Amino acid sequence: MTESSLKRRGYVVRYVPYRDSAAMVRFLSEEGFCSFSVRGASKPTSKAHFLSFVLSEDEIVLSSASGGRLSYKEGRPLLLPDLRDDLARGVAFSMAAEMLSAFVRDAEGKEAYPLLSSFMEALRRGDDALTVLASFLAKTTELIGYGINVDGCAVCGRTEVEGLSFKDGGFLCREHDLFAPHPGSAFLRAVRYVNKVDLSKKLPLALPPVDSKKIIRDYLGHLETFTGTKLKTTSLLMAL
Ligand SMILES: [Zn+2]
Repeated sequence: MTESSLKRRGYVVRYVPYRDSAAMVRFLSEEGFCSFSVRGASKPTSKAHFLSFVLSEDEIVLSSASGGRLSYKEGRPLLLPDLRDDLARGVAFSMAAEMLSAFVRDAEGKEAYPLLSSFMEALRRGDDALTVLASFLAKTTELIGYGINVDGCAVCGRTEVEGLSFKDGGFLCREHDLFAPHPGSAFLRAVRYVNKVDLSKKLPLALPPVDSKKIIRDYLGHLETFTGTKLKTTSLLMAL
């Protein structure tokens, strides 16, 4: 049997134990997604235990058997997600990881990596967790093809907008916003902001939590409508 090695640096996005001592890991690096098996990582005494921490940043070496199946050979953790005893940060990490594992396909991995790495960087810097999460959700939604128009009316393109309908594709002008109650211009600015802001630089502005939570809920509802999938971490928002 021929065996070759693969070196990767990136993040654990999913960890699924499947037998007492084995687990499958989905990992996102600059090269995209890869999935591999690992033995023993659930045990706190294992050298591979760091792989059971979702969103840990790691350096790993995988071996590839002739059938193309990957298994963990060796590696080390670089950074574990830092919760800082802050519930909002915990929710941000959990929801971002579930978003990636539930919605982002293997083919979109190369584009998802810079998004995740700037999200992690923003939280490391200490930027407002809910604003960072709202932006990550907006950008990931765009990446997987369900993004909304935040430049002008989704129907006619007019830049004077009053409404927002995820179902209709984004912002709406007075003429085309027939049903929804108007969310107010400050909220529309917040939605545009999370779509446009560059997470790799210090955020110029933290949104009021009531706005970022509403944006997060709206995006999750939008994704649920289109995909039929509801994230488990949605319920965590209630605790904030
Ligand atoms: Zn219009």
